[in-house]
Amino acid sequence: MTCDVFALANVGVQGLHPYQPGKPIEELQRELGLDNIVKLASNENPLGPSPIAMAAAQASLKQMHLYPDASGFELKKKLAAKLGVGENQFTLGNGSNDVLDLIARTFLGAGSSAVFSQYAFIVYPIAVQAVGARAIVAPAKDWGHDLLEMAAAIEADTKVVFIANPNNPTGNYLDRESLSAFLAKVPEHVIVVLDEAYVEFAGVDDFPDGLTFLNDYPNVIVTRTFSKAYGLAGLRIGYSISSPQIADLLNRVRAPFNVSIPAMSAALAVLDDRDYLQRSQQVNSAGMGQLCAGFDELGLTYIPSVGNFVAVELPCDAVPVYQALLREGVIVRPVGVYQMPNHLRVSIGLEHENARFLSALKKLINEGCFDQ
Ligand SMILES: *Cc1c(COP(=O)(O)O)cnc(C)c1O
Repeated sequence: MTCDVFALANVGVQGLHPYQPGKPIEELQRELGLDNIVKLASNENPLGPSPIAMAAAQASLKQMHLYPDASGFELKKKLAAKLGVGENQFTLGNGSNDVLDLIARTFLGAGSSAVFSQYAFIVYPIAVQAVGARAIVAPAKDWGHDLLEMAAAIEADTKVVFIANPNNPTGNYLDRESLSAFLAKVPEHVIVVLDEAYVEFAGVDDFPDGLTFLNDYPNVIVTRTFSKAYGLAGLRIGYSISSPQIADLLNRVRAPFNVSIPAMSAALAVLDDRDYLQRSQQVNSAGMGQLCAGFDELGLTYIPSVGNFVAVELPCDAVPVYQALLREGVIVRPVGVYQMPNHLRVSIGLEHENARFLSALKKLINEGCFDQ
């Protein structure tokens, strides 16, 4: 007897495609037998781990036979003191991706909708569709969120709006004034998620700290992560800050032990490693300058970015260029799934990694790789 398991799945799930991660270094090594591969594909921290965080994670392994603290007491206490909010405003996640899923599961389902922008982070449509809700995609403007379109896109059944600030894969951001004006327009029964995965990199004066909106707008949820500027992507830990009422709801849905002991220990430790965060920011801004200067020299346009990555526009389909770069030992990210077929998203690496990428790109241009 055969059973069509596909038909058993929730309708939303049937329409999903698996998330496509950046190609792992080991996989390219196996395929091409290359050493010295440079991966600039997943917005990971090029510094490697913070030694202080690594020591803390290692020490915590003595407790690996125990369940972690389900309440995340110590970490919430430390974050609350650092950010000036209450401990009861946090929801911890297995990466902030987990929190985005919790938000979808808590507020969305069949008969409701969520609004996000064209070119917005790919996890939003996945989270929305998986719970059977309807996705409303607002058209972008200049590759960025168009808040007028987003406000206009809100319908009677809309319960959540997702905003990535800065956005991935485009790297652009919404300034304080425009975001503030948008929040004033959104009905108070619509949750607005401000996804600030790259907030630590956005060193521009008019960049809004999402936390400053929480008092005036109890419908706002700010999500943050240890994956990017803090270099803990592999341990999976992120969190949201919201009203205590929203946090209480999210924590009802949350799996009780969703954050591991090493992840919590490393996060606690890395918060004290100021030097690591500072170096992350310095290496990023230097590398951003290096890559953009390189693109200028090659006559390529790119979307101005305040994240730890930049989307460069090619005069041709980006996939063959991506593949040719792989053969040069450089992994970047094609963004066709975002309907950006001519862009490559390049994460900011160390100086020598950025240089490797730029010289491989230059070589391909000289070899006529763009003349498809
Ligand atoms: C990387 C990223 C995240 C979160 O990643 P986690 O590792 O799950 O914390 C969230 N939002 C955006 C826009 C991202 O790029």
